[in-house]
Amino acid sequence: MNSSATITCLDDLVFDNRFLRELPADPETANNRRQVFGACYSYVSPTPVAQPTLVAYSKEVAHTLDLSESLCESADFTEVFAGNRLSAGMEAYASCYGGHQFGNWAGQLGDGRAINLGEVINKRGERWALQLKGAGLTPYSRNADGLAVLRSSVREFLCSEAMYHLGIPTTRALSLILTGEPVVRDMFYDGNPEIEPGAVVCRVAPSFTRFGHFQIFTARQDLKLLKQLLDYTIRTDFPEMNFRGCSDAPEQLYLAWFEEVCRRTANLIVHWQRVGFVHGVMNTDNMSILGLTIDYGPYGWLENFDLNWTPNTTDASDRRYRYGNQPSIAFWNLGQLANAIYPLLETQHLGALQAALNVYKETFEQGWQAMMAGKLGLKAFDPATDLELCTELFTLLQSVETDMTCFYRRLAMISLDTGSGDEELMSPLTEAYYVPEQLTPDYQMRLCAWLRRYIKRVLADAEADDERRKRMNAVNPKYVLRNYLAQLAIDKAAQQDFSMVNELLDLLRHPYDEQPDKEAFAAKRPDWARQRAGCSMLSCSS
Ligand code: AMP
Ligand code: MG
Repeated sequence: MNSSATITCLDDLVFDNRFLRELPADPETANNRRQVFGACYSYVSPTPVAQPTLVAYSKEVAHTLDLSESLCESADFTEVFAGNRLSAGMEAYASCYGGHQFGNWAGQLGDGRAINLGEVINKRGERWALQLKGAGLTPYSRNADGLAVLRSSVREFLCSEAMYHLGIPTTRALSLILTGEPVVRDMFYDGNPEIEPGAVVCRVAPSFTRFGHFQIFTARQDLKLLKQLLDYTIRTDFPEMNFRGCSDAPEQLYLAWFEEVCRRTANLIVHWQRVGFVHGVMNTDNMSILGLTIDYGPYGWLENFDLNWTPNTTDASDRRYRYGNQPSIAFWNLGQLANAIYPLLETQHLGALQAALNVYKETFEQGWQAMMAGKLGLKAFDPATDLELCTELFTLLQSVETDMTCFYRRLAMISLDTGSGDEELMSPLTEAYYVPEQLTPDYQMRLCAWLRRYIKRVLADAEADDERRKRMNAVNPKYVLRNYLAQLAIDKAAQQDFSMVNELLDLLRHPYDEQPDKEAFAAKRPDWARQRAGCSMLSCSS
């Protein structure tokens, strides 16, 4: 990391709070829960906390914000990012949005426990919005407390940074701070509330605007504000779209913008499917217009490959947000965004809006094929042969418990020697199976048949073996934030031992590299974690 990180005092950060400057504020400044009309946000200060303690911070995000390491380790840093002090230029507010939750329109939601601090302009001239999650009540808190607990904050902090290092678009996390305040949570909504340690994460992103920010104004038929927010968003968050040139034909610009959101969303979901990330709550208020992974709640990583898996116990019966359904849910959500902007278009644009929506499908399909080719180490995806190859692979992976991450990583190791016997052929993959008894002779035969077909397909590419392995290892991570690893780090952090949070943060900086002294973190889920809360089951309670 070079030494241009020169800010040593938070009061020297440069803020340009354009969202506040250009969009209307709620005139009411009292912090009571309410419906907010005709405004994009409400001013609200973070609630001070008793005894903030820094658990971890991200060096990379600090660097992006030009913050020196000693500043990040200072008492003032902890005070500011716990919400106890606003540094010079910070202006605190919560934004108004709505959303569809589990397919139903939920009305006003908004930043119920997120408090924005403004937008930093860094030395490279980039705009980065800062937001505290868990910093207290806002007008949008509805019947909840505005707080967050340690376990969900560790999960958000680590996963945002892990996703970034995997090359997946995401909001970032600067800091994770224990507040010293108790927070009461009934983790499984079963009448067993417990006191948990409170925490605050400072999230960082170019913008936190969600699909729901547009939906709320359309639902309220406030088309003036809808247009104002959309124009603002295109101008600020999509500067490459040349807002000025389009002032005579804003409809064309809106359509082009929507198409771009479709493209970015498709790209995001392809990434999630690649690494086996299941968001868990793909409500429209949790969809970023920039195509970032946002709002890490009851997310999870596939351990055994299962298209039907969701980590979210709140969604256990319908499994709306299961792994295999993420691509169609994203499409459904984009349909809601299309409905939201439609009032700004004419009937004649309906076809174009539909066509833009189809761009999602096309982009996803192409992206998915390229992604699968990458995972399998093929030079390019040939639908004539490879669709079938993938279908059979998924059937195999799903029919016995197979660790997805281990499997793909180890697939790169198999011998391409067509003369190998079955046992030799399968041996690099043994580690990926959870229940050895499931590997019946029939199953092994079918797996070997697939492997031989696969080898033939790879050989047809006539690429050097080590080249193929290198390409595969660059898209098939060795290390992901396995659900049980996050839980072990949480257990320790709850005992004031932050070593594992920091160890995982460090490990996940290089998810595609071999890290010989960290081999244990690449192992498949141990048996004790199979049914343990927090490891395989999570709820929305956070
Ligand atoms: P989520 O399911 O986390 O995306 O949250 C849905 C809505 O509930 C958003 O408006 C959140 O701000 C709000 N919310 C979630 N948890 C809390 C909380 N503890 N206090 C206040 N609002 C919350
Ligand atoms: Mg949310």
